[in-house]
Amino acid sequence: LGILLILEDITQIRKLENMRRDFVSNVTHELKTPLTSIRGFVDTLKAGAIKEEQVAARFIDIIDIESERLSSLINDILLLSEIESKEEQVVAPCNMDTVITDVIELLQPKIAHKNVVIVYSPKPDMDYYPANANRMKQLLINLLDNAVKYTEVGTITIQCEKRKNKLVLCVEDTGIGMEEEHLGRIFERFYRVDKGRARKTGGTGLGLSIVKHIVERYNGKIKVESKLNKGTKFTIELPY
Ligand code: ADP
Repeated sequence: LGILLILEDITQIRKLENMRRDFVSNVTHELKTPLTSIRGFVDTLKAGAIKEEQVAARFIDIIDIESERLSSLINDILLLSEIESKEEQVVAPCNMDTVITDVIELLQPKIAHKNVVIVYSPKPDMDYYPANANRMKQLLINLLDNAVKYTEVGTITIQCEKRKNKLVLCVEDTGIGMEEEHLGRIFERFYRVDKGRARKTGGTGLGLSIVKHIVERYNGKIKVESKLNKGTKFTIELPY
């Protein structure tokens, strides 16, 4: 039995080592892409090859967008490693109603030019949840930001309630949805349903991975249901 346990440990260590190696190689690739693009445009501008002002301005815009992307990627990678490495410090119980309302306000500019409304009706018995408010805010920002990114017309509904000994949080949209085959993989780091589309919408591919890590920190569960061109619903259950 002892030998079997040691073999199991070695397999586990190898698996973790492979995961670490994959992660480093993915991170390197993801960071290099915007950097290569920035370097390319800077070199062209420096060489003085661009004579038209309009084209030069467009190049500078791209450099700006790609730098922004690089910065989001670095922030998300740091956040992931922080969530992984640190025990959660709960300073004070978190008022979920305040968190939700704040995040909705934060995302208003992003829906201003879309035909989208965010619907949220606070439940009268909504409780405080013993969590780090910043983590809860991050979780909601990531889910809601996706809902907004992937919905052009319709409604985004947020529900939050206490059911028995659990806090249940749902974010549902009427957006582009996903095919079933992707649902098992979207929580993986850097997994995107459609790379081209994600690049246009400016995602890092780390948003849902961060959400899942936060949920697991609180021993919770996350579930996704989605239909292509109909919408997506994320349900999170956090035990008290
Ligand atoms: P990204 O930064 O690319 O949005 P995420 O980790 O947040 O990365 O999401 C992973 C992928 O899951 C996205 O690229 C997108 O294809 C898909 N996805 C996430 N949320 C939604 C949603 N609400 N509707 C449709 N697709 C979604």
